[in-house]
This record gives sequence, structure tokens and C-alpha cells, in this order.
Amino acid sequence: MKTVVLKKSREASLARKHPWIFSGALQNDAADAAPGETVCVKDQSGAVLGYGSISPASQIRVRMLSFNPNETVDAEFIEKRIAQAVERRSLAVKNTNAMRLVNAENDFLPGITADVYNGYIVLMLSSAGAVFWKDAAAKALMESVKGAKSVYCKYDAKSLQREGLSFEDGLLSGEEPPELVEIEENSLRFLVDIRRGHKTGFYLDQRDARQAVASLASGRRVLNCFSYTGGFGIAAQKANAANTTHLDISESALELAKKNSAINNLDGAEFICCDVFKQLRAYRDRGASFDMIILDPPKFAEGKSQIMRAARGYKDINLLAIKLLAPGGILATFSCSGSISQELFGKICAEAAADAGAEMQILKRTSQSPDHPVSISFPEGLYLKGLILQKMQ
Ligand code: SAH
Repeated sequence: MKTVVLKKSREASLARKHPWIFSGALQNDAADAAPGETVCVKDQSGAVLGYGSISPASQIRVRMLSFNPNETVDAEFIEKRIAQAVERRSLAVKNTNAMRLVNAENDFLPGITADVYNGYIVLMLSSAGAVFWKDAAAKALMESVKGAKSVYCKYDAKSLQREGLSFEDGLLSGEEPPELVEIEENSLRFLVDIRRGHKTGFYLDQRDARQAVASLASGRRVLNCFSYTGGFGIAAQKANAANTTHLDISESALELAKKNSAINNLDGAEFICCDVFKQLRAYRDRGASFDMIILDPPKFAEGKSQIMRAARGYKDINLLAIKLLAPGGILATFSCSGSISQELFGKICAEAAADAGAEMQILKRTSQSPDHPVSISFPEGLYLKGLILQKMQ
């Protein structure tokens, strides 16, 4: 096994069990190692600190798999980790047949994400090490998930590009999944397009927030911004919203949102293909008002360097939404940008309220659902935050 050696005084993060070693912390970079190969990590004294997967072209050079010098990292080791993650999930989530089974670094499986949709498992790989272990991961998923029908593999192109790698998505095990897989979540039904959908196909991380929104929706005129396949708006309409409008820039997402409304026996919703930034201004200019607005935009910040620009984007849409809310109206606002902290997101929303001349109260803070756990040694695992706010009279 090849070895990498940490520079002097660079052990602190590893001692806290943070799984990433950046290239700058290494004295040598095992340049001859293949992408994803397991390497032994040593300190200056030659002591073994653990084992990790190497990413020769990435700034994150090693992702730790084990901090135990006596552990053997092989396919069996990965299979066991996967089975353990799957077992933990059965306690975390109820009332659905779709959930995250493996949450990458947070389950001590760097770069490996797996979601199940009614028996169809989607494995999403985002690092060289994850790709290296994909067959072991697929085997363990088929064996440990009750009623597993297949494992379909998707590659996170953006992350893998940073590693100089690219692959084609495809079936790894079992039967080809249907064009659309139907799932059930808290008595709602959704169609999921595994192949063409975002990420693994559906935003399972917002399950609890969808329920929280639904619980406040009765009788309200709801504006579901960044609707994707309808999630929040459908939950609200099913909970007796007075009317519902879905906004998204993607025609195909809205097509699926329409189908999802239909299979939940809902009709009368409006679906508008538009840029939310422009549409909110158009509503403002024509003096429209709503009793509930959901803002669940895509990631505005890819990294720390984009925080300022992202903050301006969040403030803009939140300010516009607050102005459009009738007194007593609800704003459910979210950010999935990992580099925007919960505290900063709160500040941005407070500034938006102040600029809108509105008093807002926090009814609830939300985060990713519990099948997306966060490892206590990996703060980066917490990316989703939300505020459910009410406009005071
Ligand atoms: N709320 C959804 C997930 C939203 S994902 C759910 O619970 O399932 C973000 C969505 O925003 C995507 O569907 C994307 O097409 C859309 N989007 C991105 N930029 C947009 C813009 N400027 N205007 C409208 N929609 C946009």
C-alpha cells in the first residue's frame, strides 16, 4: 500500500476525525497512486493515523475511510459500512418508501450517497474513492435493502470534474428502473425521474419541511417558488390551501409537477415557467399578494468565494417575497448552500424583513430530514437550513 505523510503540525484536523486531508497538508502526494486507491496515512514520526482514498487531481487529496491503524480496508469493509448505514435508516424515517440510505462522509463513506425510491436504489458517486468502491457498494445495497430491485449509478459530474474524472451513468445491478418511479411520502405520491432528475431524482432532504409547510397551509393562497416537481406546493394543496401557484424555470420539472398533482387527485393549480427573480417583481408591480410563499432555490454559493453574491441573491428574493405577503402570511425560506451558515442565513432574512418594513416572527427552524444525518466531526455535512416565518399584522 502506498503511503502519504502529513507535514509537521498538520495532525489536528485528523485527530478530530475530520475526513478530508488537503494537498497542502501533505509532505508527499503519492503521485503514482491510481485515482481512488487506498493509501496509508502517517505522521512525521511514522505512526499510522489511518487509511483513506486518494484523489490525485483534487485539492481534497485524501478522504479518510478509517482512523484505526489495525483495520483492513477492503471490499468487505465497505460492504459492512453500507449495511450499517442502511440499518440505521430504518429507525430514522417513517411513513415513506423513499429515503437516503447512505449519506457520504456523514456515514464514514466519503463521496458515496445512496437513495432508495420504492425499491429502486440510486447510487451517486462524487469522488475517486467512491468510484473505486462502487461495485462493493452496489452489492451491499442489493443485499441489505429490503425489497431492493436495482442499483442505478449516477456520477456527480461537477465534483468528479474537479478530480479530472468523468463517467456515464447506468445500471449496476438488478432490473432497469422504469422511466418514472412512484414513491409515497406521508400519504402524498410523487413520480421520480431517476435518470434525468436533479441529483438522485427527488429532494428527500425537504421531507420534514414539506410537512411543516403543509401544517400551516390550510385556507392560504400559496406561491411555491422553485417548485421543481411540485413537492411543497402539492403538500400545501393537499392540506387544503385555497389555491396554489408553482413557479420554476424548467419546463420538464413543471411537466412532472403537473403529473404529480394529478396522481394526488389535485386540480386547479397554476404552473408558470419563469425566472422567479423576474416573476416576483412582476407580482410586486401589479400589487399581487399571497398568504404563503415558499422559497427553495438551488444552491446560490458553490464555495466560500461566492458567499457575497449568494447573500445578495437570497436577500433579493426574500425581500420581494416578504413584500408580497399579506399580514399574517407565512414565508418558508430555505438555503441549501453549505457555505452560507445558519446564522448568516438568519441575518440575511432579518435584513430583508427590515428593508421591507415588515416585522417577522420565526415559527420554526428546519434542516435536512434525519435520513440525512450530519457527522459531528464533519460540519460541512449540514447544508440545508430553513426558516418558517410569519409576517406580523
Ligand atoms: N422545492 C423543490 C426543490 C427545488 S430545486 C422540492 O421540494 O422538490 C431548485 C429548482 O429551482 C429547480 O427545479 C430549478 O429548475 C429551479 N430554478 C433554478 N433557478 C431558477 C430561477 N431563476 N427561476 C425559477 N426556477 C429556478
